[in-house]
Amino acid sequence: MSELEYRENLKELVDGLNFKEKVERAERLIREAYEIHGAGLVVANSLGKDSLCVWDLAKRVAPEIRGFIVTTRYKPEETVRFMNEIVARHPELRVFKNDMDIPDRLYETDPDLCCDLLKVRPTRQAIEEMKITCWITGLRCTEGRTRTDFQEIEERDIGLVKLNPILIWKEREIWQYLALNSVKVNPLYAQGYRSLGCAPCTRISNEDDERAGRWVGTSKCGGECGIHTRPLKIFSEGGGI
Ligand code: SF4
Repeated sequence: MSELEYRENLKELVDGLNFKEKVERAERLIREAYEIHGAGLVVANSLGKDSLCVWDLAKRVAPEIRGFIVTTRYKPEETVRFMNEIVARHPELRVFKNDMDIPDRLYETDPDLCCDLLKVRPTRQAIEEMKITCWITGLRCTEGRTRTDFQEIEERDIGLVKLNPILIWKEREIWQYLALNSVKVNPLYAQGYRSLGCAPCTRISNEDDERAGRWVGTSKCGGECGIHTRPLKIFSEGGGI
């Protein structure tokens, strides 16, 4: 499996491959990565629809593949319940959370710092503690303005490969996969949410951009929490996580 081999024109793949071909490509990417990384291959499961898709795909490749969830004190109660249910079914999913004291309503005054403390730090902790050499994400290049420049295989941090096996899938194909495979999803989707995050920073949005409901009214609107843009191999001892 080489990064160069998979550096194709993503736009052509998004529109050119059919659903079955995309599923087969995603499974092939995961299988090849598992052959190389073994137990070092771990799924980052955000509990959103895209993560559930890659989690299900990974389990088809090898049921023993592990995963991690990063949660925060601000997750909606529906998401917490959903998380507890899935962890009960899959004890190989570890949960990471930063419980350190932070200023009240930091998500309003400095959402970048809030995300850095509550999301990026626990992700670094997961990578360190689980000895991850390759992490699988549910990133898709059609999700929003900040997600167009990723590749299916990346190595942004030296020694940490990032695999984005459903990068070329459309929103419709995610729902197609979940429906065809009877994968249970967070009940918040039934209320109209299309992208799920922390309660204070997530709204229902009807805009074309799937992530338009995230961080509405801030400079981060429709943007990123940082786990896909910040270095992950710098492990901080501080922070109480
Ligand atoms: S999504 Fe909002 S509440 Fe959650 S960590 Fe980021 S800024 Fe804080």
